[in-house]
Amino acid sequence: MSLIVQKFGGSSVADAASVKRVARRIVDTKLAGNEVVVVVSAMGDMTDELLDLANQVSSNPPAREMDMLLTSGERISMAVLAMAIADLGEDARSYTGSQAGLITDAAHGAARIIDVTPSRIQEALAAGAIPIVAGFQGVAFDTKDITTLGRGGSDTTAVALAAALKASVCEIYTDVDGIFSADPRIVPAARRVPFVTYEEMLELSAVGAKVLHLRCVEYARRFNVPIHVRSSFSQLDGTFVVSPEVIATAIAEGKAMEQPIISGVASDVNDAKITVVGVPDKPGEAAAIFRALADASINIDMIVQNISAAATGRTDVSFTCPVGTSKKALEALESKRSAIGFENLIIDDQVAKVSLVGAGMRSHPGVSADFFTALADADINVEMISTSEIRISVVTRVDDAKRAVQALHTAFGLDADGEAVVYGGSGR
Ligand code: ADP
Ligand code: ASP
Ligand code: MG
Repeated sequence: MSLIVQKFGGSSVADAASVKRVARRIVDTKLAGNEVVVVVSAMGDMTDELLDLANQVSSNPPAREMDMLLTSGERISMAVLAMAIADLGEDARSYTGSQAGLITDAAHGAARIIDVTPSRIQEALAAGAIPIVAGFQGVAFDTKDITTLGRGGSDTTAVALAAALKASVCEIYTDVDGIFSADPRIVPAARRVPFVTYEEMLELSAVGAKVLHLRCVEYARRFNVPIHVRSSFSQLDGTFVVSPEVIATAIAEGKAMEQPIISGVASDVNDAKITVVGVPDKPGEAAAIFRALADASINIDMIVQNISAAATGRTDVSFTCPVGTSKKALEALESKRSAIGFENLIIDDQVAKVSLVGAGMRSHPGVSADFFTALADADINVEMISTSEIRISVVTRVDDAKRAVQALHTAFGLDADGEAVVYGGSGR
């Protein structure tokens, strides 16, 4: 008997009919002789609707109350899913993140899981029941307040539970047939990738492929939990996110093809570019700028320093950060204006990050040349560049992002013959 964790995203449980369809799928997995633990997200776009509501009643909703509000979405879906399963004759019991033992730090809105103590889940399994856990939430160890793990965090709940319960696999059910070479909403010719390594998926999630929450992939890699991403609307094979060793074995057994050089293209429109204008060109200035940002807990992504103007001895430093933290970044820098001695701050939120990811880049020369040629041929201007061993990212105008993704997808030979299916969801 295997223990399987199954996570269903919001679009998979958007309405009563979907909840009943998912209930059937869960019960079928149980009847096939498995133990099943379910993690569920809020129905449809409910989390966004709750966020909108909060912003209508308050100009600056307190983070603690925001988490209390947002976690209510998952409470609804877990209870109705348990009811639908009961209707099919199985015993299902819903648990909040706190009841399921998801212990986090106290960082509201972006809490990290620090421990998982799933004794109630184990008790439910021992009683032959199907435990259903509310995704994306936990309870802070110190304050005992309810926390959330950040948008898309139900994936992380599922992997954390799979690791703690030593499940054989963590299945992530969503509204597309697995992980594709690009977001099928942007590139209809995107190709399903049957296998991807944790490392490649980490890069893809980090640069905007929201199909898996970044922390879920980090967690899965650390605890070596196989992730199986697939559609709750079809029976197709999906994608396995696993270690390179598992892929090598699958290739040796003829179950997988050689891995492609490039695994995918992704874009992210949630960054802002901030330029610190007129920074004195002397040692210690960059340190002072980035220390001020670090002290304000701002995550910096790309950085560019322009050549200094000989006449003034001053230079401009630009960086990108998540748009949601840009106001805090500006305040942090403003408070150090005289100490750092810069002249001005400019913010630009009309930017996008476009990235190409593939482990094959390590051993394959010419990828950068092809990358920049493809963008040049599409007449797309590159404003910033950053690379890792297996990724190239650039900042472009937001209006160019879609074209950039499509141009790269075609240039690297990733276009499939058919069209990828998007079964549901608003893509919000
Ligand atoms: P869920 O509600 O099930 O958690 P999400 O909306 O968080 O679903 O994630 C699924 C969506 O991720 C897809 O509908 C798709 O638009 C998007 N996506 C982005 N990049 C990719 C990719 N490379 N492969 C598959 N889906 C992707
Ligand atoms: N409902 C939460 C969100 O929309 C968590 C999740 O779906 O993973 O972000
Ligand atoms: Mg998601």
